[in-house]
Amino acid sequence: MHLVTFERRYAGVADGEPLARAPAASLGESLGFQTLDAGRPGVRRLGAVLQVGPRAGSIVDLNRAFAIKLACEDVGAPEAEADSLLPAGMQAFLRIGRRSREAAHEALEFTARALERFDGPDVAHAGVVIPRVGVRLCAPVPRPGKIIGVARNYPAHAAEQGSAAQPVEPALFLKAPTAVIGPEDEIALPAATSQVDYEGELAVVMGKTTARISAAEALESVAGYCVANDVTARDFQNVRGQKFIGKSCDTFAPLGPALVTTDEVSDPQKLVLHTIVSGETLQSGSTEEMLFSVAEIIAFAARIMTLEPGDVILTGTPSGVGQARRPQRWLRDGDVVEVEVAGLGRLRNPVRSEGPRD
Ligand code: MG
Repeated sequence: MHLVTFERRYAGVADGEPLARAPAASLGESLGFQTLDAGRPGVRRLGAVLQVGPRAGSIVDLNRAFAIKLACEDVGAPEAEADSLLPAGMQAFLRIGRRSREAAHEALEFTARALERFDGPDVAHAGVVIPRVGVRLCAPVPRPGKIIGVARNYPAHAAEQGSAAQPVEPALFLKAPTAVIGPEDEIALPAATSQVDYEGELAVVMGKTTARISAAEALESVAGYCVANDVTARDFQNVRGQKFIGKSCDTFAPLGPALVTTDEVSDPQKLVLHTIVSGETLQSGSTEEMLFSVAEIIAFAARIMTLEPGDVILTGTPSGVGQARRPQRWLRDGDVVEVEVAGLGRLRNPVRSEGPRD
């Protein structure tokens, strides 16, 4: 599944309809439930991307789909049941565990089947299926409990950064959760730095509370994967000795577009990654180049600290960062940074300057 956190841009938009037009009658209302919360623009919801059919790319509101499925089956209190298994927040959803993931699968299958049948429930008008243009995608985990980064995890990147010796263990650092933005949001260049760099990366999203596990068990605790840009202010990181600040400015952690669940990623060490800045491909790599694998990073981190559902691990960046290029290529006002990981999708973040340098 491609799980997303989304906000509606407009209330009650059905596929193929003008955005401003609200549906005449809602299936939810006819089944006796309130539609106001689900339809309000700006309220974050848990969704999944439809992968096939004429509405491929549209977003399914999982809570609402599940409630309508239960109502069609005459299950009592369908909304309360849907709320308990498919809460709006990704971390709450992950914390519930297997039952909530099964409910998400059932909701998605119910929706796909209803769309195929001409006599099925009208899920498009029930606010279950929302066209992509009708939503703003947020980061799949908009405010992780923690973001752990791994420094110099690709040998070619470590070399271009001037590190002669390879790390003997994963070199972990923390990045502030407030830096997270969505897959299409703007990266803001703070006035306090003039050396903002991109780092395209594979991000791991934890699915379970995890401590003291072996590398062999580690991938069982992963919920899924997404694309990340570990944006970094190099002057803070290197010249001013402020590594935490260099990684943690607001907007410096674009994540998304979806949390792709592990059943759809057969091997996290075989994913091709590209970073494209204003049309020019500046990073091309594969996760098979990693010095420490996803499993080894998780096992190492979990020896020291408890990992929780929704925690994000940024697994390091391949070579080709702006600092190592000649001439150096810092992000500028008006740039567009795209990071793509095969099978996981693409981030596309415009860059804007916050104002004059100080
Ligand atoms: Mg990084």
